[in-house]
Amino acid sequence: MSGFAELHPPFTPQAAVVEANRCLYCYDAPCTGACPTHIDVPRFIKQIAGANLNGAAQTILASNVLGLSCSRVCPVDVLCEGACVMHNLNKKPIEIGRLQRRAMDHFYESGGRLPQGAPSGKKVACIGAGPASLACAAELRRNGCAVTIFDKKPLAGGLNTYGVAQYKFTPEDSRKEVELLRAAGVEFRNGAEIGGNVNLNDRDFDAVFIGVGLGPTQPLGVPGENMPGVHNAIDFIAAYKTATPLPMGSRVVVIGGGNTAIDAAVAARRLGAADVTMIYRRTEADMSAFAFEYQHARHEGVQFRFQARPSAITGNGKVEAVECGADLRLPCDTVIVSIGQSKAVEAIAAANGIALEKGRVVAKPETGQTSNPKYFAGGDCVNGGREVVDAVAEGKRAAKGILAWLT
Ligand SMILES: Cc1cc2nc3c(=O)[nH]c(=O)nc-3n(C[C@H](O)[C@H](O)[C@H](O)COP(=O)(O)OP(=O)(O)OC[C@H]3O[C@@H](n4cnc5c(N)ncnc54)[C@H](O)[C@@H]3O)c2cc1C
Ligand code: SF4
Repeated sequence: MSGFAELHPPFTPQAAVVEANRCLYCYDAPCTGACPTHIDVPRFIKQIAGANLNGAAQTILASNVLGLSCSRVCPVDVLCEGACVMHNLNKKPIEIGRLQRRAMDHFYESGGRLPQGAPSGKKVACIGAGPASLACAAELRRNGCAVTIFDKKPLAGGLNTYGVAQYKFTPEDSRKEVELLRAAGVEFRNGAEIGGNVNLNDRDFDAVFIGVGLGPTQPLGVPGENMPGVHNAIDFIAAYKTATPLPMGSRVVVIGGGNTAIDAAVAARRLGAADVTMIYRRTEADMSAFAFEYQHARHEGVQFRFQARPSAITGNGKVEAVECGADLRLPCDTVIVSIGQSKAVEAIAAANGIALEKGRVVAKPETGQTSNPKYFAGGDCVNGGREVVDAVAEGKRAAKGILAWLT
């Protein structure tokens, strides 16, 4: 798709080796500690420096089967690269994400495959085909379990396919990770909504993993929000990434202050909107978006209005303005709402006696096991919405919990 050039293009082979050679290969490395999946970062960087890209990819995959997507979408400034000791030396941190990408690109270009364990005779169902379930399934296959993943969407990959900004990671890239799992023997059933058009009979499986993520964007609760020209951010992003962009005018108002709102605003700019304004009800300092995402949006020409709370969306049959009380009226022809996603696991939880707290699945921190011992869970539906790498860590943890419980 044009207009979505990558934010961080890949290293050339030579530049990767030069960057790898800057690494101090710390003992007890803080980058490894800061990575939720605890990739042995110094080890894979040393392997890149020694031109052993296969070895580097295996080191990454041993901890994180979504090493490709994480190399592109992880907020590295607050994770591995944020912990790099180079900061203490007043030097630029090692570009761990881009080095990880170098190894993973090589892995996929050379047709790499995942290891599969000898069949154990155990069968596990995963509900949802996002990062949490993919990581869970990979670990289970490595240990010989048969795994079936059900997802209500036509494409697998969860928000890696439908949500993450196009200039970071495309649906085609996401497909590579899905195909890697399919080649390892994972069965995918798409278009299968558990509790909707498909009822899961859990007697057919030895254990079930729940990785259903979050639900749709919450409603604003103001007059006019159902008018033509008002979109929710998740649908807006999913449409431009995997289908046809939703109709959009040249003046767009995005409501919200998180990373998803930022992604929607930047996408609107890149899709051609001349004037994109984000409005947020609190102050700049209160925004939940990462600082680098906020700066990036400013750089892309997105404007910001703080301490502005929408009271109505007005127009005559289609959007004409967002009103924020009596003193602020923002004329526009498109509104994108992004004020957080609802929790969407109630039906599955109720049907299977699974305890929830504030709409999140309650899961044991060490194993991911829920209050129904046959059911395990991880990812956004447990943590309330974090990052891809957290979902991977929780999916892998639950797989280990399932394996321990089954034996
Ligand atoms: C717009 C946006 C941008 C983001 N950008 C980044 C980023 O740049 N970097 C980053 O690290 N993180 C980012 N995130 C967060 C990240 O995408 C999530 O933390 C991660 O995808 C969570 O993985 P998951 O597997 O728990 O859930 P999801 O990825 O949401 O996957 C859940 C899957 O379950 C399916 N499902 C739901 N209910 C059912 C059912 N009843 N039956 C069958 N299937 C079902 C859904 O269709 C979906 O495919 C972003 C999130 C959003 C919304
Ligand atoms: S998975 Fe993400 S946080 Fe972990 S080392 Fe790789 S880029 Fe850093």
